[in-house]
Amino acid sequence: MNILVINAGSSSLKYQLLNPETQQVLAKGLCERIGIDGKFTYKPEGKQAVKEADVAMPTHNEAIKAVLDALVDPANGVIGSMKEIDAVGHRVVHGGEKFARSVLITDEVMAAIEECNPLAPLHNPANIIGIKACQALMPGTPMVAVFDTAFHQTMPAAAYMYALPYEYYEKDKVRRYGFHGTSHKYVTQRAAEMLGKPIEELKLISCHLGNGSSIAAVDGGKSVDTSMGFTPLAGLPMGTRCGDIDAGILQYLMNKYGMDIDKMLNVLNKKSGVEGLSCVSSDFRDLENAAAEGNEKAELAQKKFAYEVRKYVGAYAAAMGGVDAVIFTAGVGENDKVIRAMSCEGLEFMGLKLDAAANDVRGKETVISAADSKVKVLLIPTNEELMIAIDTAALAK
Ligand code: AMP
Repeated sequence: MNILVINAGSSSLKYQLLNPETQQVLAKGLCERIGIDGKFTYKPEGKQAVKEADVAMPTHNEAIKAVLDALVDPANGVIGSMKEIDAVGHRVVHGGEKFARSVLITDEVMAAIEECNPLAPLHNPANIIGIKACQALMPGTPMVAVFDTAFHQTMPAAAYMYALPYEYYEKDKVRRYGFHGTSHKYVTQRAAEMLGKPIEELKLISCHLGNGSSIAAVDGGKSVDTSMGFTPLAGLPMGTRCGDIDAGILQYLMNKYGMDIDKMLNVLNKKSGVEGLSCVSSDFRDLENAAAEGNEKAELAQKKFAYEVRKYVGAYAAAMGGVDAVIFTAGVGENDKVIRAMSCEGLEFMGLKLDAAANDVRGKETVISAADSKVKVLLIPTNEELMIAIDTAALAK
């Protein structure tokens, strides 16, 4: 079964054609600068990537058309005709409280996704445009929506409620939703396979550490808490997002510098995190290099980030009454042995001991805890596209 996975942003569109049964990726690529000057990247399996600039892409429709044309192209294509695409899986950022799992897209589902737009005004409208463009070009092909928030819908009320007046939840749906659900679901399922135990019997802490970062407590395969909140601004400090801060800081800084809320949020989303703290970069590779050269702020940013990861690991072990394994994934989690080591420092008291030699590894599924560590530490590269394709194939059947 061939599944086309689409991740549509406001001016970009990532795609991958893959077979979830064999896990073979037939082709993948990216459309960028949609509505501007159209850049197109296409990489068929086993062949050179094709990159084109100034491709006419006034809307997402032309972008999807370019993808489909490339996939069936006689020279560089990977399928004979569009009929060989069995279904399309769309990443949708926000499913609110309506969607606790992936769903086959119908008119009612589209309306319900649109109702979630106010909760993710930058992302959901773009996801919807991507779905509509595919529907226009591929009528009759089943489409599935896979939500970033769905996996966390199992959280208990004590975890998802904020201690605000109840009416903000009832009337305005203000609560913790959490994100990166597809990634947390994928790596926790893989962890159960690696550990050779049913996921129902495992307490797992999944650390998705990338440019955006979140941690999830997954008990028996169900998310019971996660660090991102009503928006992806909450929880850990990230590349440029501040993570959790005292809300009182907003009033203080806005008054002092005459900032309106948009300016303030721009600071919190785009100028904070490890970049803001280090004054160096949002990229952890730059932080490591700068710290090695004696840059104290870069070192502080690394320490702050790892300290917060460690606190969440402790907190979620307490929340679940134990933990069998901690998982590291995403750009930083998969590649940065320094951050992994710093994050696990001092957790021996709870039976978690990293193996320095095993931790000296990048981007590969492996156990990095010591042989006598009661809590296993796992490195598991995430694969959101595969998870989306698996869900899509199951629903399209
Ligand atoms: P993601 O959002 O999951 O794509 O992660 C992107 C981030 O991963 C980058 O901004 C880097 O900070 C980090 N990253 C990627 N490669 C490395 C590496 N080799 N060492 C440390 N950090 C890395």
